[in-house]
Amino acid sequence: MNFADLGLSDETLRAVTEAGYTEPTPVQAAAIQPVLMMRDLIAIAQTGTGKTASFVLPMIDILAHGRARARMPRSLILEPTRELAAQVAENFEKYGQYHKLSMALLIGGVNMSDQVAALEKGVDVLIATPGRLMDLFQRGKILLTGCSLLVIDEADRMLDMGFIPDIEEICTKLPASRQTLLFSATMPPPIKKLADKFLNNPKQIEVARTGSTNDSIEQALVETTSRGKRETLRGLLRAEDVKTAIIFANRKTTVRELNQSLQRNGFASGEIHGDMEQSARIKELDRFKAGAINILVASDVAARGLDIKGVSHVFNYDAPWHPDDYVHRIGRTGRAGATGKAFTLITAEDAENIANIEKLTSQKIPRITGAAKAPTEDAAEPTIDAGSVRDAEAGGDERVAKPRRRRGGERAAKPEAAPERAAKPERAAPPPREASETPAPRPVAPQRAPARAPEPVAEPIAADADINWNGPVPAFLSARIPD
Ligand code: AMP
Repeated sequence: MNFADLGLSDETLRAVTEAGYTEPTPVQAAAIQPVLMMRDLIAIAQTGTGKTASFVLPMIDILAHGRARARMPRSLILEPTRELAAQVAENFEKYGQYHKLSMALLIGGVNMSDQVAALEKGVDVLIATPGRLMDLFQRGKILLTGCSLLVIDEADRMLDMGFIPDIEEICTKLPASRQTLLFSATMPPPIKKLADKFLNNPKQIEVARTGSTNDSIEQALVETTSRGKRETLRGLLRAEDVKTAIIFANRKTTVRELNQSLQRNGFASGEIHGDMEQSARIKELDRFKAGAINILVASDVAARGLDIKGVSHVFNYDAPWHPDDYVHRIGRTGRAGATGKAFTLITAEDAENIANIEKLTSQKIPRITGAAKAPTEDAAEPTIDAGSVRDAEAGGDERVAKPRRRRGGERAAKPEAAPERAAKPERAAPPPREASETPAPRPVAPQRAPARAPEPVAEPIAADADINWNGPVPAFLSARIPD
C-alpha cells in the first residue's frame, strides 16, 4: 500500500515524502483512512510502530479547514510525559509544514504564561499532559467545548502514572459528539473500561500482539552478580559495536552513579531521570541526539516513549520489575525497520522478574555468561569476552539460568543493588516505577510478582512539579502561532 492510497491531501503527502517515508507502516495503513472518515479508533500499537504519524497525518487534513477561536482548542492530544508531548509537537511541525495550523504545548516545566498566551489566540492543536491541562482548566484559561477531536496516546502509560481519573474528567468536558482516538501498547481492563465509556463504536486495530517484542531486536540475558554488574556492562559496551546506547536502571540513584562510573571509565555518557529539571533533560537529550555523547543512562519514566533514531543498543543494567517495562525499554532500539540489540544484566535474584518477562513476551531469551568474578571497582578491563557474546548470539551458549545462591564470600550489595527483605507470604506488588529515591524493597523469589501493578501508581512522575522553570523554551517546545 502507498501513502497516496490513504486519502491524505497532496500537501500532507508532500511532507511525508520529504520525511523519507516510502510506504505506510501497518498501523498507519490501518488507522489513517478510518480517522479521515471521522471514526473513533482504538489502536493497540507500541511506540516505534509509526503510531504517531497514524494520528498526526489525518489530523492535519481534518483540521486544515476551519478556524481556531480564542481559548477553544479544536483538537486535544493527551500524552503521559512532557517528552512525548514534545515529540508529537515535532511531528506536527514536520508533517504540517505545508499547512497553516497553530499549535500549543501544555506541559510542566515550560513557562505557563507563554502557554496561556498561545491559548488566548486560539489553537488548532493542543498537546498536553493531563496534570497541566487540568491546572489551566481549573483556572478558567481554557474551554474544551470546541474540541471536536481527542487523542489519548499511550493509555497504558497514563494508567501506570495514575492519570486515568484526570482523563475521565477531561473527557466529560469535551463535546459528546467528538471523535476520539485511543492508542495503547496493551489493553488492561481499566483502559478497556475507559474506551467503553468514552468511545463511540470505535474501529479496533492491533498491529502488535500485546506484550510482543519487535522481531528486529536481538535479545540476550547476561548473567552476572550484583557486584560484577558495572564491569559486565563495561565489557559489553567494549565488546559490542555500540554506536548509541540507552542503559536503563531501576532507580534514579543508580542512574546517577552509573553515569558517573561510566564517565570515570572513559565512556561518553549522560543521564536522564525524573529528578532532573525539564531544561536539563532536554539539554542531555540534545547532546545525545547530536552525538556529543553516545550513551544515555536513563530511568523508565524519563525515557518513556522517547523516539531517538538509530539507537543500536539497549542495556538493562537492572532487570525491570514490571515485565511490560521490558517491552517498552527494548523498543527504544530496532525502530522503524532498523535492527538493534538488547542486553539485560541478570543476577540470581532476577529469576522471577525474568520468568514474568518471558511469560509476557512468550519467548525464551538466550542467556550468556557475563562477568562473575570479583570486580575491581571501575576497573578498566572487562571480564566478559567478545567471543562468548557472539557465540551466544549465534545460539551457541544457550542455557537456562538457575537461581544461584549468594556465596559466603560475596559482599553485601552496593547502593544500587536491590536490597533484600524477607518475603511476605502473600503476593506483593512490584515497587512503583521510579517512585522512590531510596532503594525500595522488592519482592524476592519465590514471591510471585503480578504481571502489572494492581493499582495505578499515583505519583511517580514529577510531571508538572517543576512549573517554576522559566528558562529559555527550546524552539520545538514553544507554541507556534501563525500571524
Ligand atoms: P512512533 O511509533 O510514532 O514513535 O514512530 C517511530 C519512528 O518511525 C519515528 O522515528 C518515525 O519518524 C518513523 N516512521 C513513522 N512512519 C514511518 C514510515 N512510514 N516509514 C518509515 N519510518 C516511519
